[in-house]
Amino acid sequence: MTELRGVGIGLGVAQGPVARMAEPLPAPEDAPSTLTPDEELARVREAVAAVARELEERGSKAGGMAREVLEAQAMMAEDPTLDTEVSTRVNAGKTGEFAVHAAFASFRDTLAAMGGYLGERAADLDDVAQRVIARLRGLPAPGVPDPGHPFVLVAKDLAPADTALLDLDKVLALVTTDGGPTSHTAILAREKSIVAVVGAASAKDLVDGETVIVDAAKGVVTTSPTADELEQAQHRADARAAAASAPLTPGALKDGTAVPLLANLGKPGGAAEAVELGAEGVGLFRTEFLFLSATQAPTVEDQTKSYTELLAAFPGKKVVVRALDAGADKPLAFLNDAHEDNPALGLRGLRALRASEDILREQLTALANADAATEADLWVMAPMVSTLEETEYFVTLAKEYGIKTAGVMVEVPSAALMADRVLAEADFASIGTNDLTQYTMAADRLLGSVASFQDPWHPAVLRLIKATADGGKTNGKPVGICGEAAADPLLAVVLVGMGATTLSMAPTALADVRASLLQYDLADAQRIAEAALAADDAASARAAAQAAAENAA
Ligand code: PEP
Ligand code: MG
Repeated sequence: MTELRGVGIGLGVAQGPVARMAEPLPAPEDAPSTLTPDEELARVREAVAAVARELEERGSKAGGMAREVLEAQAMMAEDPTLDTEVSTRVNAGKTGEFAVHAAFASFRDTLAAMGGYLGERAADLDDVAQRVIARLRGLPAPGVPDPGHPFVLVAKDLAPADTALLDLDKVLALVTTDGGPTSHTAILAREKSIVAVVGAASAKDLVDGETVIVDAAKGVVTTSPTADELEQAQHRADARAAAASAPLTPGALKDGTAVPLLANLGKPGGAAEAVELGAEGVGLFRTEFLFLSATQAPTVEDQTKSYTELLAAFPGKKVVVRALDAGADKPLAFLNDAHEDNPALGLRGLRALRASEDILREQLTALANADAATEADLWVMAPMVSTLEETEYFVTLAKEYGIKTAGVMVEVPSAALMADRVLAEADFASIGTNDLTQYTMAADRLLGSVASFQDPWHPAVLRLIKATADGGKTNGKPVGICGEAAADPLLAVVLVGMGATTLSMAPTALADVRASLLQYDLADAQRIAEAALAADDAASARAAAQAAAENAA
């Protein structure tokens, strides 16, 4: 058995025979064209338009997020800059195929060099180029294989056009050699709950027909698995299916210790699904998601309406709303107007709000209005707080507006290290493990090439979480977790063992975490946490927790 490592998307596990995506078409040769430039250009334009229409058609068949993605890809195909690039080459005597190949490749390199979200769009452009060249050559477009039985699809990186129409009865899991956690493969796998591991470079050696286990929770693909491993994987897949249909009890450990399970939401419209999946309240409402495309600050009235809608869905329940977290991967035009080379370390979160304090004051006004109009228990917190002074500033201001419970997010190591003091001032803290990991490990959370550093299991991150939970204990204040780490069923046990008082996550993760917590007493959770904390690195922390958990269960 060998383990190939990548980034797991979601928590599922699946097994089956590999079917590889066909290799891309060979690059066209740089031979002189036998047609006139006008004839070549007409062929290319016909092919580009046909490909764009086909992508749109696939999008409207697939619907949802896939539709937006494919429409964006169709627009990319018809981008006038690309047309100019192609024309220049055709006018220099190149064939249509070669001109498309070269023009798209140069545009692709520009995107790839940008890194992050745009960098991951590079694969989309490759797919468009392949489709256009296939059409020019009269060949079928490259696509998903059909071996006639269910299979684990292995590809370099899936294009949105492929993922959109995947037959979910046939595709047991996805494995890609390229792409990071924000690639389209990852986004669509998440949306469709497909078991997926992306960015597993060594998967290039997998061959058609060999059986593999794809473990998204661990980010591992196991080749040549033993009968025992296959059985265990099946057992986990069955347990997961059972957890999904288990009764919606409040979050608790086996000994009854309550661990309220809350939802992370970005729109009030998500509240109904969260309640259906057993959320006991909201642990993180990301207000900036309401205004990502706004060019001007939202009005107090608009905000009051949105917050009232949210709070009204949770009468008598806790709802933690975060003040606008603008900057870095979530820029808001009305809050982040200056160019920064390093926006994750710049004027983001509370820093940006302080620089435009009127916007923060309006948001607090709207939250207080919504609170007065509803029965929910409103808590408000500031994002990206790094000092005690910022904590005092935010808590004092929030109280001025009548917010009864005001706290901070702990996402920056400095706040975690000062947690005993920070929690003397704040009513609560919520640990954002996504940013806390990014800042502790100095690894951009959007960058596939450093994804292996972005692991909240790293003991350095765990120690900071422990320090924050201890700060809460010293001051008798609650410390919740609202980053992705809370959605990892075993890490959730570790977090509770270190003293986290609530866990907040994407509603679809609630069932797995609820089932996992019910397997351990508080003393078990503490032992499992100690084992992870004593490790040297993320992989050994995970393995040590796993071993301690097996002893306990
Ligand atoms: C986090 O950083 O863990 C967090 C919850 O905030 P966001 O993911 O919105 O930055
Ligand atoms: Mg954050």
